[in-house]
Amino acid sequence: MVDVLVVGGGNAALCAALMAREAGASVMLLEAAPREWRGGNSQHTRNLRCMHDAPQDVLIEAYPEEEYWQDLLKVTGGQTDEHLARLVIRESSTCRDWMRRHGVNFQPPLSGALHVARTNAFFMGGGKALVNAYYRSAEALGVQIRYNAPVDSLELEDGRFKAAYIGDERIEARACVLAAGGFESNREWLREAWGQNERGEWPADNFLIRGTRFNMGVLLKFMLDAGADAIGDPSQSHCVAIDARAPLYDGGICTRIDCVSLGVVVNRDAVRFYDEGEDFWPKRYAIWGRLTAMQPGQIAYSIIDAKAIGRFMPPVFPGVKADTLPELAEKLGLDPATFEQTLRDYNASCRVGTFDHTALDDCHTEGVTPAKTHWARPIDTAPFYGYALRPGITFTYLGLKVDDTAAVRFNGVPSDNLFVAGEMMAGNVLGKGYTAGVGMSIGTAFGRIAGTQAAAAACTQTLAKSTT
Ligand SMILES: Cc1cc2nc3c(=O)[nH]c(=O)nc-3n(C[C@H](O)[C@H](O)[C@H](O)COP(=O)(O)OP(=O)(O)OC[C@H]3O[C@@H](n4cnc5c(N)ncnc54)[C@H](O)[C@@H]3O)c2cc1C
Repeated sequence: MVDVLVVGGGNAALCAALMAREAGASVMLLEAAPREWRGGNSQHTRNLRCMHDAPQDVLIEAYPEEEYWQDLLKVTGGQTDEHLARLVIRESSTCRDWMRRHGVNFQPPLSGALHVARTNAFFMGGGKALVNAYYRSAEALGVQIRYNAPVDSLELEDGRFKAAYIGDERIEARACVLAAGGFESNREWLREAWGQNERGEWPADNFLIRGTRFNMGVLLKFMLDAGADAIGDPSQSHCVAIDARAPLYDGGICTRIDCVSLGVVVNRDAVRFYDEGEDFWPKRYAIWGRLTAMQPGQIAYSIIDAKAIGRFMPPVFPGVKADTLPELAEKLGLDPATFEQTLRDYNASCRVGTFDHTALDDCHTEGVTPAKTHWARPIDTAPFYGYALRPGITFTYLGLKVDDTAAVRFNGVPSDNLFVAGEMMAGNVLGKGYTAGVGMSIGTAFGRIAGTQAAAAACTQTLAKSTT
């Protein structure tokens, strides 16, 4: 029998597998995806948010614990567990040497990734390279890896893990780490979670999934049905505005539309609905998917002019381009009269001071609702561009409640051999909202804890057996 069974094949699972193996346990990792699609959402990532008290290789200046915590507190509106959040923050300051030892390299941010050179360490080659490095290291250390291995249920006894099932196949282990992602790929579950709105629409029918198609939430559902303590609201997720032309799954980072704060956003009725300049983009991009989901038809349009070009990471598909605003409205299928009125009102309300996209500048609107509080400049320089936006689900926040040992809990009692990491428990730290790079911080911190704990639990059982 293997000591530690790890279910999942993304960052959290790999961190758990590597730590358990380093602690001397025999480890098997079960990845639902085939080898070429391994790595879950982690294969799409770019960076990790890291606390640091002084400049550190690719990270400039300092990003102290308190500032990181305040950022999390702000974006979650207090829906976070301070103890667990601070644990993640502290772990983020020390994990990178370990990551390097397993082949992960870092680089400064690419141009266009504004505001994050201080806070986020970028993976050289992106998440795909990180995942490949971890798999290579795991193989070299003797972790048994199985692909096309979707676990559909577990055998539990009094809160203890006994075995996992892939169809009829029963796999026993002394301890188990669940790191099988959220339920973002499960469109039926998303539909149920979001329900029907006051217009009679099912908003989730218009969502796109930014990452893997394999995070169906099978084990999350199994554990909730088995009575594991839950955390988080099923309708809360990391949800960003992406290009409406993106594929249903795995569009990844390049379908994100990053020019929102440089222009205005209108809905299907050609009216604005939210402050596009509320805060720096890395602290705000994750609310725009939800904002778009609340609009009629779950669609919105990001509008910019020539002044914005070169100031944001260009998405993979070119924007719809026009020489005049009425022409742009027509090409986007918006009512030209309302669109022109919206743009006229906005342009007239702009109080342009000193434009600076790297600071919360003094360019703002006056007398228009909603206000644009920073980076407000008239949209008046041809050519004009428009991007149709759809909600792009990154990952869901409903998960299993944990303490700082990463143990799954039943009625407040921690299991002594079943642990959870990554998206399956991220809701403990992220009740809502998001700040760039914290998903990987949570998965790395709790993956490492879960792996260590699982190895210790397996070892305790082996010792107990050998002394009886
Ligand atoms: C486009 C995109 C960009 C992102 N960029 C960033 C970023 O730059 N920084 C950041 O911090 N976060 C980012 N995120 C979020 C980040 O991907 C997640 O927070 C993180 O990867 C979660 O890791 P995980 O291991 O929990 O889940 P995943 O990496 O999704 O891994 C889950 C794994 O479980 C497997 N699985 C699912 N069900 C089963 C089953 N029943 N049996 C066996 N295996 C199963 C899946 O195949 C997959 O391998 C991004 C996400 C996306 C989609």
